[in-house]
Amino acid sequence: MAEALLDARGIGVRFGDFRALSEVTLAVAAGSLHTVIGPNGAGKTTLFNVLTGRLRPSEGRIVLAGHDVTQMPAHRRVHLGMARSFQVTNIFADLTVTENLRMAAQAVAGGEPWVFWRAHRPMRETVEALLEQVGLAARATRRAGDLSHGAQRALEIGMALAADPRIIFLDEPLAGMGIDDVHRTKELIHRLVPARTVVLIEHNMRVVLDISDRITVLAQGRPIAEGTPAMIRSDAAVREAYLGS
Ligand code: ADP
Repeated sequence: MAEALLDARGIGVRFGDFRALSEVTLAVAAGSLHTVIGPNGAGKTTLFNVLTGRLRPSEGRIVLAGHDVTQMPAHRRVHLGMARSFQVTNIFADLTVTENLRMAAQAVAGGEPWVFWRAHRPMRETVEALLEQVGLAARATRRAGDLSHGAQRALEIGMALAADPRIIFLDEPLAGMGIDDVHRTKELIHRLVPARTVVLIEHNMRVVLDISDRITVLAQGRPIAEGTPAMIRSDAAVREAYLGS
């Protein structure tokens, strides 16, 4: 495998006496889509929190783009090109789709908000490009709170993309979606690679097996398998622990 953009080794997390993660190793190649699966309580969210800097591991080391980020807070990892989209929607319901994307782009630019927006043509182009990328151009002036669940998730991914991240973490982006939204969001996520690197937590196995380059399977805080979708599908330990057959 090419050198990993994200390389986590020997990750352990303890909450008091409880070991949420033990000896987790994860190498994510640049431009790939890497999914973490596992039953509820397996430690997927805890792993995401460690990788994105919300939580410090009790053991192990994380290297992002050649930098040791193990002790680095989340906001500094953002400067190395990391973005995260949460399971809980982060959009501003009363603003329009464009205004939400503009807010995200301005937060990244860190400039004087309104002056920056009027004077800075690249910002306008950024927002238009984001609208196209996430398929919301036709709904640009709609109030974000009135969008379907799927469109809200697309907007959220657009807001994460405003930072032009190299690596983006998506936590259950398909949760609670109807079949049309699942299809659209799956296509949107798949299109992010190989320009960007995607790390995904997702329960929809059909989608996971379809779009992932590699899959890591966690069970009770430990990695029990890692490989391509074909390898994971035929792995006996995975079938027993997770797929239930
Ligand atoms: P998953 O995302 O795979 O469902 P989690 O990472 O949320 O799993 O949780 C893994 C385990 O760690 C669970 O048993 C959970 O109860 C426990 N856990 C998560 N966060 C904490 C915390 N802050 N304190 C104590 N236990 C926690």
